Amino acid sequence: MDKSRNFIEQIIESDLEEGKHGGKVITRFPPEPNGYLHIGHAKSICLNFGVAIEYGGITNLRFDDTNPSTEETEYVESIKKDIHWLGYDWEDRLYYASDYFEQLYELAVKLIEKGLAYVDDSSADEIAEEKGTVTEPGVESKYRARSISENLELFQGMRDGKFDEGSRVLRAKIDMASPNLNMRDPLIYRIKKVPHHQTGKEWNIYPMYDFAHSLSDSIENITHSLCTLEFENHRPLYEWFIEKLEVFPSRQIEFARLNVNYMITSKRKLLRLVKEGYVSGWDDPRMPTISGMRRRGFTPASIRQFADRVGVAKRDNVIDISLLEFCVRDDLNARANRMMAVLNPLKVVIINYPEGEVEWLPAENNPEDPDAGNREMPFAREIFIERDDFMKDPPKKYFRMAPGRYTRLKHAYILHCDDFVEDSDGNIKEVHCTYNKDSKSGSDTSGIKAKGTLHWVSVEHAKKAEARLYDRLFTEPVPDGDPEKDFTSFVNPDSLTVLHEIFVEPSAGEIAQGEQIQFFRKGYFVLDQDSTKENLIFNRTITLKDSWAKIQKKHKK
Ligand code: ATP
Ligand code: MG
Repeated sequence: MDKSRNFIEQIIESDLEEGKHGGKVITRFPPEPNGYLHIGHAKSICLNFGVAIEYGGITNLRFDDTNPSTEETEYVESIKKDIHWLGYDWEDRLYYASDYFEQLYELAVKLIEKGLAYVDDSSADEIAEEKGTVTEPGVESKYRARSISENLELFQGMRDGKFDEGSRVLRAKIDMASPNLNMRDPLIYRIKKVPHHQTGKEWNIYPMYDFAHSLSDSIENITHSLCTLEFENHRPLYEWFIEKLEVFPSRQIEFARLNVNYMITSKRKLLRLVKEGYVSGWDDPRMPTISGMRRRGFTPASIRQFADRVGVAKRDNVIDISLLEFCVRDDLNARANRMMAVLNPLKVVIINYPEGEVEWLPAENNPEDPDAGNREMPFAREIFIERDDFMKDPPKKYFRMAPGRYTRLKHAYILHCDDFVEDSDGNIKEVHCTYNKDSKSGSDTSGIKAKGTLHWVSVEHAKKAEARLYDRLFTEPVPDGDPEKDFTSFVNPDSLTVLHEIFVEPSAGEIAQGEQIQFFRKGYFVLDQDSTKENLIFNRTITLKDSWAKIQKKHKK
């Protein structure tokens, strides 16, 4: 099938047709190690690695680590882990912009030698003032006319640590009247006497992002440098560097950032959620970070599927979170074994079932997967069902358990509800039923019609566990869209519900970390990373159906 090509694929194909770069495709994913990766980064990773795979190319991982004050090794490690988890591999091509500090320094010297860069002693305020505005041209700095030899000497002095932070910068000499503010003699080096996580105390100066980023692409012979739209008007500057320095002509192509409603994709704001305690950490299962989604139980395949369906756009837009949720459900439906758990237990005593007897009933693991096989579930006289699966006084259309009615237990028998026990406050204590011996699932000869099918666990055999149920982290679709209100005021107070005493069937106690399961009728779950054999903790990845509409109503009240 001839899949339709997005605009990036079209550009790459036409470059390949022209034989540009000898038919090579080299992309890169260039994170700044100043936070954990989020859903937006996942999009960029899938795009960069994805197109390279599609056209027989390769992708480098390059840490854009030019700002030593905000970067940490913790972030470097988490980023590597997240990319591998998503299913992509940079093989031996792990680079740091800081690997190129010497080369970048030499390129800056080359600019000075060509009369295309100068050391400016103006203060930051002066530089800002002289920059002009969109409607007014800038003013040339009084240091702009410095001689090449003086510039070379001062730049060397900056490197050697002879000057204080903020006292001098190196600027490209381009055009203070350019309508593009990025071209008005942009800063390319600043003094920063801060140790760097890769280079230690070696450097007293650090290149600015635009200089380091674009030239690192050239150093690595990146053929297609994919980035988000906010860099569109930086492109002329990158092209200027490429032309003046005669380096590899990486081609920058911009695409729209991925925005997802009910999610935030600003590292600065995510950091605030962590620091201010709205969540338990970067990997809190409610966070839109890759580590959070992993802990929550989202699968790499579902995130890749989402990135693919979103496609690439040239204009900023907001994607509905329900598309991501759809991809998660779709993948888990095929993958997850079914089990049973009762989240809010109500005891049912089957009065005609012999005390002490146990039957191990075969239960199909996954109706979507014929190879998934069966397990056995213990059935006995006392079982738990879900509290809201019983009503003492139900409406006609209620097909679950109620006095005088028949209900089927999944993989087991049909029960007739005889009676129930209430306490003095009207709380149901337990329900009494009789079972029909001939109604066993798979060999039912009873002839009884039971409309509802319930999940259940045997009281004696079930394992007690904790369940953490998650909902969207924000109550507003665009939590950071209101300039008057801080996004934290839209944190959903019901985004986490902890159930301390749920009961799961025995085989659910045996699942492995990372294994996704579906608790029949209750959603998809995984073990939390803090779960132990003695203290089982299940994270609910997602409900089986969209329950969001209901919650929205509740908040409107
Ligand atoms: P910062 O403001 O800290 O620079 P950033 O979100 O741009 O944050 P980077 O680490 O610089 O983070 O991003 C790495 C790569 O991921 C860049 O190529 C960037 O364009 C891309 N990226 C970041 N956020 C998104 C997003 N929401 N959608 C698509 N790509 C993104
Ligand atoms: Mg960035």
